[in-house]
Amino acid sequence: MADILVYALHDDEGVFNKNSLGAISEAAKLASETGGTASAVVVGDVSDDAAASLGDYGAAKVYRAKSCPEGLAQPIVDVMAKVITDNGIGYALFGGGLLGFEIGAGLTARLGAGVTMEVTAVKAADGKLVAERPVLQDSAIVDVGYVSEPGIIIGRLNAFDVKESGSGAAEVEDVEVELSEWSTKATMVTRGEARGEDVNIEDAEILVGGGRGLGEKDNFKLAEDLAESMGGAVAATRAVVDAGWYPYSTQIGQTGKTVAPKLYLAVGISGAIQHKVGMQSSENILAINKDQNAPIFEFCDLGVVGDLHKIMPKLTEAIKAKKGG
Ligand SMILES: Cc1cc2nc3c(=O)[nH]c(=O)nc-3n(C[C@H](O)[C@H](O)[C@H](O)COP(=O)(O)OP(=O)(O)OC[C@H]3O[C@@H](n4cnc5c(N)ncnc54)[C@H](O)[C@@H]3O)c2cc1C
Repeated sequence: MADILVYALHDDEGVFNKNSLGAISEAAKLASETGGTASAVVVGDVSDDAAASLGDYGAAKVYRAKSCPEGLAQPIVDVMAKVITDNGIGYALFGGGLLGFEIGAGLTARLGAGVTMEVTAVKAADGKLVAERPVLQDSAIVDVGYVSEPGIIIGRLNAFDVKESGSGAAEVEDVEVELSEWSTKATMVTRGEARGEDVNIEDAEILVGGGRGLGEKDNFKLAEDLAESMGGAVAATRAVVDAGWYPYSTQIGQTGKTVAPKLYLAVGISGAIQHKVGMQSSENILAINKDQNAPIFEFCDLGVVGDLHKIMPKLTEAIKAKKGG
């Protein structure tokens, strides 16, 4: 029997994050396979109805810690550690994302638990959970079991699909948690939730991914114009995000988002493995790169060797002309 606890992140409007809902859906499936229970933790200002709505994704119970701030890892570690310990819960499952990684790591240390990160699938075996984790640049998968509980499982972003279970409202239980002294030393000044502010790249069907080959921040206009001509959105590599050329919320890859659009057009992107893992499931991958030996040409469906500064404006014009015609 596997009882599983999921942390459900919400934004300032009370809307739950897609990865959290995916993790709840996955927890519900695994719990039903093992005869256990899936439950969720929410913190901060979450209404009764919003908390209970997590039942739609299979959470039987929702633990709500109203006095705990949302968005900071340490207080949430306090809450989850208490809920797990008080209720003898066997596993904590996270849907990915930086906050999930941070909380999962803290929880692991606090509970002296085993942890598996970057998990792409979880299965049930003999009433316990086994995490599948890609290794060796995603060329092989290892199964990771836990010799003792609790076990912490941190998924890759978007690893778990959101599924409505139709099981109705979850029971909501308020929990009082005394936050650790160190958990109150950082406070949230502003919650800069860029995700969903503009286009949500995880849901876009067409993405133009811009890399360092664009040369400078202002040249992202080329990617924006091209994306707009096709009704798509713009994504980026970590190199350009770190350089401040484009917002962090658009980063694709190992430490960014995982996407699977119908078309991923990579411009000026070398195709490093850390980028590849975030976009390799795209239906069609097109690449424009001036270096014919760039790694991206090893896994794209169509590659164009050439200077993006010459190709992109012409491509944008051609698409606009075609659409207008
Ligand atoms: C732990 C770790 C985690 C990481 N996580 C991520 C991650 O999540 N996402 C991510 O993207 N990276 C990540 N990285 C970084 C990754 O290793 C690469 O450094 C990064 O992806 C490279 O970005 P890039 O392709 O934009 O730049 P570059 O590797 O510099 O490639 C630029 C490309 O543009 C081409 N080019 C240059 N000029 C032109 C032109 N005029 N026309 C056409 N092509 C041109 C070049 O030929 C080159 O191939 C991570 C690295 C580490 C160590």
